[in-house]
Amino acid sequence: MPALSITLQPRPIDASVDHEIQAIVAGVSGAETCNTDLAAGPWNFDIRPGYGPGSSMGDVIPTGSPRQGALPAEYREASEAELDDRIRAAKRTLGERVVILGHFYQREEVVAHADYVGDSFQLANAAKAHPEAEAIVFCGVHFMAETADLLSQPEQAVILPNLAAGCSMADMADIDQVEECWEQLADVYGDMDATDAEGLVPVIPVTYMNSSAAIKGFVGRHGGIVCTSSNARTVLEWAFARGRRVLFFPDQHLGRNTAKAMGVPLEQMPMWNPNKPLGGASATELETARVILWHGFCSVHRRFTVDQIDKARAEHPGVRVIVHPECPMAVVDASDESGSTDYIRRAIEAATEPTTFAIGTEVNLVQRLAAEHPQHEIFCLDPVVCPCSTMYRIHPGYLAWVLEGLVEGEVRNRITVPRDVADPARVALERMLAAKPPAAPAAGWEQAS
Ligand code: SF4
Repeated sequence: MPALSITLQPRPIDASVDHEIQAIVAGVSGAETCNTDLAAGPWNFDIRPGYGPGSSMGDVIPTGSPRQGALPAEYREASEAELDDRIRAAKRTLGERVVILGHFYQREEVVAHADYVGDSFQLANAAKAHPEAEAIVFCGVHFMAETADLLSQPEQAVILPNLAAGCSMADMADIDQVEECWEQLADVYGDMDATDAEGLVPVIPVTYMNSSAAIKGFVGRHGGIVCTSSNARTVLEWAFARGRRVLFFPDQHLGRNTAKAMGVPLEQMPMWNPNKPLGGASATELETARVILWHGFCSVHRRFTVDQIDKARAEHPGVRVIVHPECPMAVVDASDESGSTDYIRRAIEAATEPTTFAIGTEVNLVQRLAAEHPQHEIFCLDPVVCPCSTMYRIHPGYLAWVLEGLVEGEVRNRITVPRDVADPARVALERMLAAKPPAAPAAGWEQAS
């Protein structure tokens, strides 16, 4: 009798961070999570102030931040399979009346239903490409839904399934603090609209896409521009052609990493802490500044460290380390490459040989990439499973609730940017588009379903 030959197949990787956290809490997985409360439904945190469990749980949420009302019990108590069925049924009924957008950092159980998966700007453009849809359901965070509202048709409703899905980094640049900063800078630099002998104004404000519509509007009113993590360098070049220096917010790390790569010395990048007079900088520092960095950061990307990179290199010789530019400068410097979420995705897709990748960005994207590319070994640099607190507030229960609301003719959780903010915010976005035209739609997007 011939010997029985058994070929062991590698087990497929589960893209679901939700499942991983459930397994950790059940004691089945040996991995670690930053907070076991992540295993509970987000509705357990909607009534409490704060960002909820996850990477932003230590950040202070501004008073008056939007809260989500109670999610009906039928959605809280439904199983994963039941919610999946209900979402699919509602989508079928709604057809082209609705477009569902899913950010790269959303949980797998939500991304499974997205018509488009991408970064915030790609998704805002996807919304723009569907003027026929009555509703755009944005599975992401608040500033992303605002941007989609800015770029979509006035009659289209942009819906955020959980109103508590804000962004701790965007919240770090409050419009009143930014207005106050501008006034203080005017005391140092004089007339902010006056040009010098080279035709440059004293300061050009630049805001990262990850900011409120109010901040984008401020930037638009003051001759400034929006940037993304993909085009930050192009945008800074645009700003330096018009201003002596840049005020960059809210993410100090993206500003510092980008300006440093352009050759701006660190001593010409003072930090602006809105809680201190003159941001905590001296008048001399401000006079010689090229980039004034707002004191903001992303709590997801701040978790990555040089020690994690050293460990990855020691345990995985030949590992390719790619991190997001929202990581601290020392982490970006210690990596092999840094780039936006789309850059990371494309770099992995372009690798023709089996490769080990250590990735410094949000764990939902990393785990999905690992599942999609079993020929590579892909892992998150941070060994602790700690998703973005606010992205994680979107759960299939809320998605089912807003979609079934649309089926019943009710628009729930609409996000609308007031006209006086929207007009200048669009100006700032249009400047960005003119600074670097976007790629053709299909090139940067992932059609998920
Ligand atoms: S990953 Fe960071 S920047 Fe993105 S939504 Fe979460 S806190 Fe905000």
